Amino acid sequence: MQSIKAFYPQLTVPKKVVITTHQKPDGDAMGSSLALYHFLTDLGHSVTVISPTNWAGFLKWMPGANMVVDFDFSKEVATKLLQESELLFCLDFNILHRTKNMEAVLADLSCTKVLIDHHEQPQEDYFTYGVSNTAKSSTCEMVFDFIVESGFGEKINATIAECLYTGVMTDTGSFRFPSTTANVHRMVARLKDTGFNHTLAHENIYDSFLENRIRFIGYCLLNRMEVLYEYNTAIMSISKNDLLRFYIKTGDTEGLVNQLLTIQGIRLGALVIDRDEERKWSFRSKGDFDVNTFARTHFEGGGHFNAAGGRSSDSLDATVWKFKKVIKQYAEQLQQS
Ligand code: 5GP
Ligand code: MN
Repeated sequence: MQSIKAFYPQLTVPKKVVITTHQKPDGDAMGSSLALYHFLTDLGHSVTVISPTNWAGFLKWMPGANMVVDFDFSKEVATKLLQESELLFCLDFNILHRTKNMEAVLADLSCTKVLIDHHEQPQEDYFTYGVSNTAKSSTCEMVFDFIVESGFGEKINATIAECLYTGVMTDTGSFRFPSTTANVHRMVARLKDTGFNHTLAHENIYDSFLENRIRFIGYCLLNRMEVLYEYNTAIMSISKNDLLRFYIKTGDTEGLVNQLLTIQGIRLGALVIDRDEERKWSFRSKGDFDVNTFARTHFEGGGHFNAAGGRSSDSLDATVWKFKKVIKQYAEQLQQS
């Protein structure tokens, strides 16, 4: 993978471009993809954003989201677009299996591939150019850097700013995680100068759920949470029946794992959801407990130091049992304040 700087001269040559991101895109994945979409379109490229799967309802208001192609839903169209693309941007993921059913199509492409991402351990051999920086708050911050460093900072308008702000906001827990550097705040100041409405971004993302979702959260906190005080850990496991009973859709469980860390003294929060194809884990930690390594070692996953995900093909009960068993190895580490 060559440095992203070596790619900049190609920005002014109009190309057929596809931008893609990880399955079930979150605010950062969608925000960075759409910001780049608006920027590259403005530069004269012919651009399509393809998501491997569907996405949460609370992202649908974002400018351009209605033009995103859902690979799972439109396989033929999306595959053709990918095969005809001259340039592929991969945002907010760095390993092909995070694109689920799209993985095989991506693996076969011979076009130029550009990575912009902030997760650990990129699959470098796949990408032609790229930037991978785990110190960055979000892929949106990196797309901002990409636009500014390539000399097109003046192209950042209110539409691009709205997309970038949304991703930084969601990936930093509304500007509270340690990744929220002075540079993040400087970037936000620059975004604000475009005149976009940041309050609307917060309301659209965080205050747009239906009644069933908040009742579901109450139900899970009451009935599905277990606090393992001896490990400063809280765990929540959600069954298929729970999802059906409350009509839970993509995105409704987003943020739920963070609730576990609101308990005093809890340093590790683990949420597992019984999805159709797998049991999907979300891990969050505070301080120096590395959930990226934990997820990689025990649950076929990865991510960031304090926020990672994983999976299991075992039953819900069996994967919870395994978690409770492996956590014992970390007792000492988790007991340190
Ligand atoms: P979440 O718990 O919100 O699904 O994911 C937390 C973080 O870990 C996100 O940055 C996400 O991209 C990453 N992540 C989630 N699942 C996986 C996985 O299975 N593998 C890897 N490498 N990263 C993951
Ligand atoms: Mn991200």
